[in-house]
Amino acid sequence: IFIQQKAKVQNFVEPDAQQRHHLQRVVRMKEGEILRVIDGQGQVFSGQLNTDGRILILEQIQEDRELPVSLTLVAGLIKGERWDWLLQKCTELGVSRIVPFQSSRTVVKLDGEKVDKKQQRWQKIVQEASQQCKRTQIPQVCLPIALREADQYLSEQNFVAYEDEALQGGLFSTLLEKGRSTTIVIGPEGGFSPAEIAQLQAQGFRCCSLGKRILRAETAAIAAVCLAAAVMEA
Ligand code: SAM
Repeated sequence: IFIQQKAKVQNFVEPDAQQRHHLQRVVRMKEGEILRVIDGQGQVFSGQLNTDGRILILEQIQEDRELPVSLTLVAGLIKGERWDWLLQKCTELGVSRIVPFQSSRTVVKLDGEKVDKKQQRWQKIVQEASQQCKRTQIPQVCLPIALREADQYLSEQNFVAYEDEALQGGLFSTLLEKGRSTTIVIGPEGGFSPAEIAQLQAQGFRCCSLGKRILRAETAAIAAVCLAAAVMEA
């Protein structure tokens, strides 16, 4: 269970209405039973369900399920379910932060007022995926940016996946250096314009390849996170 509260041993924490429903009606947990509580920022505890529905924090548990360094995915927004799928799978694979962007070839149109609601829904998808795969840190899904703002999210090493072989500096997994925080930019369905690639390069992103085949945008994002995790955890 994910508790957005500070928890310490012998403290009670309060599940929200949805979590109470899940505990009582879905997994049918009884008073006195033990459950796993995370604060989403790396702390894990064992907890005991109390008669009043609160959870008594018993002890802190040491769990190592996160990548050793942070991995930021800056990804072009894509349509409908495929975006939700990208969020879920990249969370399972260990991404630290997902930054959606809009660019000249983005198909999805965002309605100003609904952006906050969408972002909350995305954060919820990531939260549920984190719980399912027992992550201890919940990745952050940022509000969408314009592609030119990608430099706000630079890490120690920065890449953009680009399918034009003439510009590619090599395969992403061979360029990555273990132990350094990483940002990878993935384009939307329509890819990047040459001007966008030039701008990203000027900001410090190196062009890299994800292999010889052209992947769909969501596959490219998942492949990139998977390759980065493999290098970081090796
Ligand atoms: N419209 C583009 C085209 O026809 O060439 C394809 C864009 S692709 C569907 C979406 C994104 O996935 C690209 O912008 C790129 O970031 C990434 N991508 C897909 N395959 C790739 C590959 N083999 N190497 C590097 N990046 C790739």
